Amino acid sequence: MPSQNNHSFDAIVVGSGASGGWACKRLAEAGLKVALLEAGRPQSDKNFTEHKPEFELKYRNKAQELIRKTRPIQVKFDVCNEYTYDWFVNDLEEPYTTPADKPFNWMGRLRMTGGRTNVWGRVSLRFSDWDFKAASRDGYGENWPLGYKDLDPYYDMVEKYVGITGSSEGLEHLPDGQFQPPVPLTCQETLFRNRVKEKLGRTVMPTRSANLTKPLNGRGPCHYCGPCERGCMTHSYFNSAFTTVADALATGNCALISNAMAYKVLMDPERNRARGILYIDRNARQAGEIYARTVILCAQSQESVRVLLNSATSQYSNGLANSSGVLGHYLTAHVRSGGGSGEFPAFGTKASLGAPVKPLGIYIARFRNLPNASPYKKFLRGFGYEGESSTEFSWNAPGFGEAYKKALLEPRNRIHITGFGEVLPRWDNFVELDRNVKDVYGIPVLKIHMSDGENERAMIQDMGDSAGEMLEAAGAKNIRTYAHPSAPRWALHEAGIARMGADPKTSVLNQFQQTHDIKNLFVMDASGFTSNPCQNPTLTIMALCVRSCDYLMSELKHNAI
Ligand SMILES: Cc1cc2nc3c(=O)[nH]c(=O)nc-3n(C[C@H](O)[C@H](O)[C@H](O)COP(=O)(O)OP(=O)(O)OC[C@H]3O[C@@H](n4cnc5c(N)ncnc54)[C@H](O)[C@@H]3O)c2cc1C
Ligand code: SF4
Repeated sequence: MPSQNNHSFDAIVVGSGASGGWACKRLAEAGLKVALLEAGRPQSDKNFTEHKPEFELKYRNKAQELIRKTRPIQVKFDVCNEYTYDWFVNDLEEPYTTPADKPFNWMGRLRMTGGRTNVWGRVSLRFSDWDFKAASRDGYGENWPLGYKDLDPYYDMVEKYVGITGSSEGLEHLPDGQFQPPVPLTCQETLFRNRVKEKLGRTVMPTRSANLTKPLNGRGPCHYCGPCERGCMTHSYFNSAFTTVADALATGNCALISNAMAYKVLMDPERNRARGILYIDRNARQAGEIYARTVILCAQSQESVRVLLNSATSQYSNGLANSSGVLGHYLTAHVRSGGGSGEFPAFGTKASLGAPVKPLGIYIARFRNLPNASPYKKFLRGFGYEGESSTEFSWNAPGFGEAYKKALLEPRNRIHITGFGEVLPRWDNFVELDRNVKDVYGIPVLKIHMSDGENERAMIQDMGDSAGEMLEAAGAKNIRTYAHPSAPRWALHEAGIARMGADPKTSVLNQFQQTHDIKNLFVMDASGFTSNPCQNPTLTIMALCVRSCDYLMSELKHNAI
């Protein structure tokens, strides 16, 4: 079994995505020796295909059936396609299970340096005290053990480095940030923004997104080619592979160990300290051990908690750092199965092939259960919408010959909006180990139990109804709305299964994402979220991670861990 000498590293970071990239950058730039264990293979600009037309692909990007043979879950989301499918986990080799009556699509499982940031949607929004302290207002769940003031400077720092395009809107519940200039709205988006504000008082804004509109640290501004999920040779969107991880490696203080699947945290039971990680080399199928003063899990919520559950010892028989019994519980992930679309025929914009493509559209800020308004009766918390506009040829026009050619050129100017809603943390949404099933590396897999409750169902209905109301207010034609149960449940924004809290009896992590039970063990991905507000999580994941790294370094300096 290969092993690295004890204390050769100050920290082991597991996972190189949004959180792991930042942990490595922050610690390595401060001079700490870091080992970055990543289950996937290295990412490279050579893999990026954003400019490659479909006709150059063997199957013209039409052979979903072939991808389905190895990635039946991953392929359900269109970012897993003929260009990118081998960045994703092989679902047959690395399965998970669910109860028969609670199907759950665990998508976006990447196995490349950069993790999900290779293919993410890049929407980047701050949380506010309306989120961190929501329990005090509506009485549901727990407040976070930190507030907006604690995170504000870290949001600033992360935004300046990542490069977020956006507009300042002055909303208390969706704080402004350090923005690069916004990407202008299209004609129909501008009309929609103005009318929705005028008639309903709701705020529609250019999406706050991790795409550059100005050069930054050697990265070029976006040139509007469109498919960011296939990579970006000019590094114009944020992907930790070519930003935070690259910076960490450039210090000479960080060693990237690829194809290394963390199995369990190794413990020194006498001192109650983590001493390293047992991992499986995915190519050689061989076990290895690596040791360090501190261990930081950043493998994405379910993956990090799987490592903790697999690390049970006689002292922590139901999973490491689980003296509270809370580990694995309170799984949350946004609901997004309500929304609508409408047409804006008044605009004379012509459709064209090969025109610039905006990689982002609009965001509609939450408008339910907010400051200075009485609580909404039908549900707690709220939702925002992501949306985009398009100008397309009229592909479905009727007719033949000359008449068809003419009708085809009639532009279809549309706006489509999709709600993203907060899901309340509930004990009975949880993950556990399925002792009967192992992945190809011999590691027990997760069983995921997740379903919607009354609050989510009422919220989804309102997402559909309110979408119709806003499109109507904007004067759209041919309005279509939808609101259906989110089953099978699926998600890209999972959080909360190693929750932070002030009380070790009811939480796994403290406000610095340090486990209450083991002082040199941290979990710095979204597992720690005490609740999962409707804003997309990644900006907050990154800001929290940097804050926790600063705490870790100050504790190390004082020999407190
Ligand atoms: C299609 C898509 C669209 C999205 N859009 C948005 C959006 O618009 N805005 C937003 O805020 N968020 C979005 N997200 C979510 C966002 O990508 C994640 O919140 C974020 O990347 C999570 O960061 P992370 O560090 O927890 O995990 P990841 O970025 O997923 O990184 C985890 C890494 O850990 C590695 N790993 C896993 N298990 C192990 C193990 N046992 N040992 C070693 N390594 C391991 C993985 O290979 C991976 O590289 C989207 C996600 C997807 C898939
Ligand atoms: S749209 Fe912009 S960010 Fe996306 S791949 Fe093209 S240049 Fe890069």
